[in-house]
Amino acid sequence: MFESLKNLLKHFTGSQEAKFTTPAAGGQQSESASHADSSTQYHTLSKFNLGLGTIGPANRNDIDQQTLSDMYQSIASGKFNIPVQGMVPEICVDGRTDKDGKRKEAPSAAGGTLSIVYGSDLGSAANNENDEIQLTTQTINLLTSKGHATGVHGDDHSSCGCGACAKAKTIYQHITERINDIASLTSQYGINLTEAEKEFIVQKARNRLNQPGFFAEDRASVLHTAQQNGSIFEELVGVHNELGIALNTKPGTTVDRSAIRAKYGPQYDMFVVDAWTFGTAAKEVNPAGNDKDTQRITKAITLQNVATASVLGHGSLRIIPIA
Ligand SMILES: [Zn+2]
Repeated sequence: MFESLKNLLKHFTGSQEAKFTTPAAGGQQSESASHADSSTQYHTLSKFNLGLGTIGPANRNDIDQQTLSDMYQSIASGKFNIPVQGMVPEICVDGRTDKDGKRKEAPSAAGGTLSIVYGSDLGSAANNENDEIQLTTQTINLLTSKGHATGVHGDDHSSCGCGACAKAKTIYQHITERINDIASLTSQYGINLTEAEKEFIVQKARNRLNQPGFFAEDRASVLHTAQQNGSIFEELVGVHNELGIALNTKPGTTVDRSAIRAKYGPQYDMFVVDAWTFGTAAKEVNPAGNDKDTQRITKAITLQNVATASVLGHGSLRIIPIA
């Protein structure tokens, strides 16, 4: 099993390397042309017919295009990567910081630990009538028992300030409606889903959407449940200023949001997806250790991250791979 997880990871990073050796479209390599090309060499969500939300550069008038382009290049080069201790997602992809301009330095996925809750729900072979609150409790306790830190967040102006949590039902719905678009994005980055895996995950999402009361009416209660079971809580501040999605496949690292702001300005934020953690997270919540299930959970975590980006983000968000 470990071997296949390694292969999955290699597949991820291998595809990044291939991508970086492909010359940017256009081909005229004068200094200014290569700058002009540097944004367009990265795929947008809209290329995959995704991005129903509002967060993204096309909805901003406070952004300098050259700065944005430089930022994408610097992030892609790994310049903002910093080491982390954890091996599974602990904090949210949210690009914002707390009131002191800081984030916990830990691996990121959509909703923090909730990414593992939803991903394992969608990918696992287990069939149960548990609700979201029960799954959150179980998953956090399982991760804690294996020595992993867990975390969620809110913000300073909403009762449930985490989009991945607030819109969990919409995200499940989005997976059922747009599985092919979402899978086409993941395959661009080396995560390929078989038809059987797609059907399996869509069916599990449908079952939950049809299960009365699966999703808690009070969305903040999911965050409270996580905290009661020992998750760290970050209170982030301000509005969403994310301009892209950093897709980080460098093991043992995340992207330093504070450093990005320090360099480019407070209005330059990025979503951060530490995809290198997904395989380990899947393994940890699949104690039976069936390889096929672990792979499907890894892919379901990936889908939950893409679907969250698509529900919250605008089509103009670019995906910046860091290999
Ligand atoms: Zn969040």
